[in-house]
Amino acid sequence: MPTVHDLIIQIKSPSVEDIALISKAYSFAEEAHRNQWRSTGEPYFIHIFETAKTLAELGMGAITISAGLLHDSIEDVNISPEVIEKEFGSEVRFLVEGVTKLGKLHYSGAERYTENLRKLFVAMSKDVRVLIIKLSDRLQNMQTIGSLPVEKRNRIALETLEIFAPLAYRLGIRKINRELEDLAFPFVFPEDYIRVKSLLKVKHIETSHHLEKFHKTVKRELAREGIIEIQTGYRFKGLFSLRRKLIRKNWDIDKIYDISALRIVVPTISDCYRVLGVIHSVWRPLPGRIKDYIAFPKPDNYRGVHTTIFTGDGSIIEMQIRTEEMHKKTEYGMHFEYKEKSNSSKVNFSKILWVKKFFPSFVLRNKDVKNIEDPTDKVVPTWIRELGEYNKEAKGNQSLVDELKADFFGDRVFVFTPKGDVIDLPKGANSIDFAYSVHSELGNKLSGSKINGKLTSIDTELENGDIVEIISRPNSHPTQKWYDLAKTALAKKQIRTALGTEHKYLEPSQHN
Ligand code: MN
Repeated sequence: MPTVHDLIIQIKSPSVEDIALISKAYSFAEEAHRNQWRSTGEPYFIHIFETAKTLAELGMGAITISAGLLHDSIEDVNISPEVIEKEFGSEVRFLVEGVTKLGKLHYSGAERYTENLRKLFVAMSKDVRVLIIKLSDRLQNMQTIGSLPVEKRNRIALETLEIFAPLAYRLGIRKINRELEDLAFPFVFPEDYIRVKSLLKVKHIETSHHLEKFHKTVKRELAREGIIEIQTGYRFKGLFSLRRKLIRKNWDIDKIYDISALRIVVPTISDCYRVLGVIHSVWRPLPGRIKDYIAFPKPDNYRGVHTTIFTGDGSIIEMQIRTEEMHKKTEYGMHFEYKEKSNSSKVNFSKILWVKKFFPSFVLRNKDVKNIEDPTDKVVPTWIRELGEYNKEAKGNQSLVDELKADFFGDRVFVFTPKGDVIDLPKGANSIDFAYSVHSELGNKLSGSKINGKLTSIDTELENGDIVEIISRPNSHPTQKWYDLAKTALAKKQIRTALGTEHKYLEPSQHN
């Protein structure tokens, strides 16, 4: 069995309070789940521990790790939120309740609305830490998914691929994105999975042991030429990401050259070309695979020099050579700009605002460039790691807490149809807007509305996650009152049309 020590050693310089909080949550969770077992036959607490461990590895702070330890205690063992607040504080309670609420959302397989459902998950999270706990929870569930009944297993795998893996990707947590994809892949596309695996077998793709050895050889060759100020890393393409590329290349694996890649980061642009020269003098490059994206950046502004070489033992490997600055931009988003003031050590929360737009853009600190052993797999965006520091700084600083909890989609609300489709509406919208956004006919025949199974007035403001059922009657007809109550332009326009008074309301410029 693991111990609380296994968790605490993951945390960078924990305070006495941090250790006390985590130890308390650990014992509490261990006791609460004592008589619970997983479908694998393991004690349930293993799931709890692994979830918290992932959070610690991501660099989360004591509050988030404690919430991770308690994340199933409301739902699974009936601990009341009040007890959690009393024992661990309001912040931990908020996070645990958030994860519990997210647990009730499910993907039903309605493809058209997948993106809206992703947004709903983010909107319901309210605090990005809730989403990160949920991702860690899902990762652990996926690691043991094989022991579940087939139907449940496949549903969870599909949901993981459609909802959680893309969310992890957009949060910039590549490690979790890739693991989730590769764990779900065999259940969602079993035939493709076998196909990808067997293609790799035929190609004798390098084992990581080989790659590790080769990358040391490269370093040695470069050192021989006096190039020692370098950082290297290597990665394999994830199986699911490889599938995506294979589909684009008509399943011709010979057209994919970046199954394994070695990355070399050097200080200056001229160093990049020196490295390229040394590599080409030692290993033979594949014709047509030398790409100078420094002189000619990609349309997305990606920069770096690429070449693909024969390693000499029958395989090929892509080499990506960049400066530190180029590397930062690649890893942390193309649109990043280094703006942080040098004298400021405070967490800069403006960088979290990107989540609002759901588009990654990070501000980096210099220290993060030093350690890039395996960029693709291990790097966690700085702002995520800073959430750990935030936990410490936030005590007594209410404005920071508020900022972190700011609604990511503050101006939108996402609600379900009875079939499980997710409809995206502006905040303040009601059942009239909902009905018209589903279909104009449904709007025109609206006579009542049920929200979460309860009959309500049609102007009740909708909230995230509400299930809205429109009651229609053939003889129902829009009224001027509906027009006044409707919030969306779409509903207003369709009501006007139905009322036959379009011209009375429309300004000429609005006719298009
Ligand atoms: Mn769980």
